[in-house]
Amino acid sequence: MAWEDKDYYGILEVPRDAPQEEIKKAYRRMALKYHPDRNPGDKEAEEKFKKAAEAFEVLSDPEKRRQYDVYGREGLKGYDIHGFTNFEDIFEHFSDIFGGSIFEEFFGTRTRRRAARKGASLRVDIDVDLKEVASGAEKTININRREYCDVCGGSGLKPGTSPATCTYCKGRGEIQQSQGFFTFRATCPRCGGHGKVIESPCYRCNGQGRIAKRAQITVKIPPGVEDGVRLRVEGQGEPGENGAPRGDLYCDIHVKPHPILQREGRNLICEVPISFTQATLGCELEIPTLTGGTTKVRIPRGTQSGDIITIRGEGLPSMQGWGKGDLLIKVLVEVPTRLTARQEELLREFAELEQKNQGPRGKSFWQKVKEYFPILLIAGIGVLLLTERGKK
Ligand SMILES: [Zn+2]
Ligand SMILES: [Zn+2]
Repeated sequence: MAWEDKDYYGILEVPRDAPQEEIKKAYRRMALKYHPDRNPGDKEAEEKFKKAAEAFEVLSDPEKRRQYDVYGREGLKGYDIHGFTNFEDIFEHFSDIFGGSIFEEFFGTRTRRRAARKGASLRVDIDVDLKEVASGAEKTININRREYCDVCGGSGLKPGTSPATCTYCKGRGEIQQSQGFFTFRATCPRCGGHGKVIESPCYRCNGQGRIAKRAQITVKIPPGVEDGVRLRVEGQGEPGENGAPRGDLYCDIHVKPHPILQREGRNLICEVPISFTQATLGCELEIPTLTGGTTKVRIPRGTQSGDIITIRGEGLPSMQGWGKGDLLIKVLVEVPTRLTARQEELLREFAELEQKNQGPRGKSFWQKVKEYFPILLIAGIGVLLLTERGKK
């Protein structure tokens, strides 16, 4: 098949289902092979070089590629394709093999035109719960975004019509203005720098080229995501001008508070109230886990209020992949506020025995009192006073 008759896939010598990476590689190969620097004076090579750039421009843009796959060249009518609309992108990708000067020489006139603007980026809020933080999640969200109009394909033109050259700037896209001694150039206010104007606008989009559409997007939430993190979903914003890349979708993550678990980095903290008898005698508790099950926790004899029992590896993963945190059970000993007559009777009996069998903290506290206030000890009165206060 003659080179001119080949389709874009044929030009780049890639299969129709080639992934983006392969298309990029194929273009790089072609561009190196037919680069005008390597083939001076070779008109055919120059044509191939341009053709490959055009093929790459279409196939590297998912929107244009889809249009091309379905409708062929017809589908690209709404776009302004001339090989290097995405000049800056290509330049960025291949700056290692192309010098800027070659581009200037080769496509000098084009680079001076206003660069096609990337599409607008969008922002959404996404709520996740701790369970989703633990495992990661896929969230499906609905957004409104402006898409290329189905009728005119984004050109804003009534089907069958073409844009007219702007009479104000005579198609240059810029105008010269004089002010005193100075003459300066400005973007044409009538055509916005395009050099063309739409005289018969598309009936569907009123010449805007875009219409608002509802889109459903699946966002991957990485395990360990933190509150306030902004995730970027590349290329899910609005389509760009003249086939420039789409904008991005920014997702602001909000982690919903959990009824019993608090998050501290990778660790989860669970405050568990227990009675003072449970603390004194020890007990076994069932703590609910994030996955909906429970985990058994042994509270040893003599646990103090505020003591922390660590369950290794039951915390959250880190976004950076540093392994899992721990589940920290913070024990809070609750003092009973209402007692039955029988309970009070038993407690009073217990209190009498308690003085002979003081707890470790109490012992250490009264030891310190003795060390710091020896005068009071000598006086004897203060000791009585302090001990009485300690009992209340
Ligand atoms: Zn339209
Ligand atoms: Zn104009």
